[in-house]
Amino acid sequence: MYIVTGISRGLGKAIVSQLLEAGETVLGIGRSHDFSHPNFSFLSCDFRNNEAVHNLKIDLPEGPITLINNAGVIGTIQRISDQKSLDTQEVMQVNVIAPMVLLHKVYRQVSDPSNFTLVNISSGAANRAIPSWANYCASKAALNMLTETFYLEEKEKENYPKVYAIAPGVVDTDMQVQIRAASETDFSSVENFREMKLTNSLYSPDLAANKMLTLLKQPFSGLVFQDLRSI
Ligand code: NAP
Repeated sequence: MYIVTGISRGLGKAIVSQLLEAGETVLGIGRSHDFSHPNFSFLSCDFRNNEAVHNLKIDLPEGPITLINNAGVIGTIQRISDQKSLDTQEVMQVNVIAPMVLLHKVYRQVSDPSNFTLVNISSGAANRAIPSWANYCASKAALNMLTETFYLEEKEKENYPKVYAIAPGVVDTDMQVQIRAASETDFSSVENFREMKLTNSLYSPDLAANKMLTLLKQPFSGLVFQDLRSI
């Protein structure tokens, strides 16, 4: 079974569509969805609500389990000192804490660690400070560190789950719409993102999902950090 978060649109929706087309069973988690398929079930949860994430009841079937922590927010695109109301807590809750709570909840139920795959959807912004994206960059850097540390901890215990933090590239989703809509005053790099759209340089959600699922079919090489642009 695949457990996928943030499936209402964008990359998450494309991932679930392709998994269902391939005959896989999917449990979606998020605020909404528009799937109707016998192999699909859904748990409603707003990841801003930490208690709701903790309270999720996830029953695992026998067999391989893949958790894809995809849901994410960019947050307010503005320099920290210009933000009227700082949204660090919300960005960290959705992008870091919810994925870790889900990992903890799911992995502790898994009977055979070698049958478990973790995919945390990261970003190139984890390794590059981008002015006006402080919370987002910090959240993805934290997610990368948590992912790698989890991998190393399990190796110490001689458990061998497959563990990935995957940067999907620049993907043509609502998140990019939000990025391109930022003002030049607030976001110095906005023109680069507008240019990428004009020159058709973004991955479609379907292409990014396909590259990611192709990667997951390969034997795990031990490389936790993956960038779909180099695949
Ligand atoms: P998107 O189109 O904005 O979709 C984000 C998804 O996350 C939606 O399904 C959304 O559901 C869900 N989500 C947001 N806030 C939530 C909350 N409070 N509770 C539950 N679900 C919530 O973004 P995307 O581009 O597909 O992003 C998917 C992942 O890729 C994210 O982790 C993002 O950081 C990462 N990423 C994207 C790009 C890119 O260029 N697009 C680049 C690098 C990394 P609702 O409809 O309920 O809001």
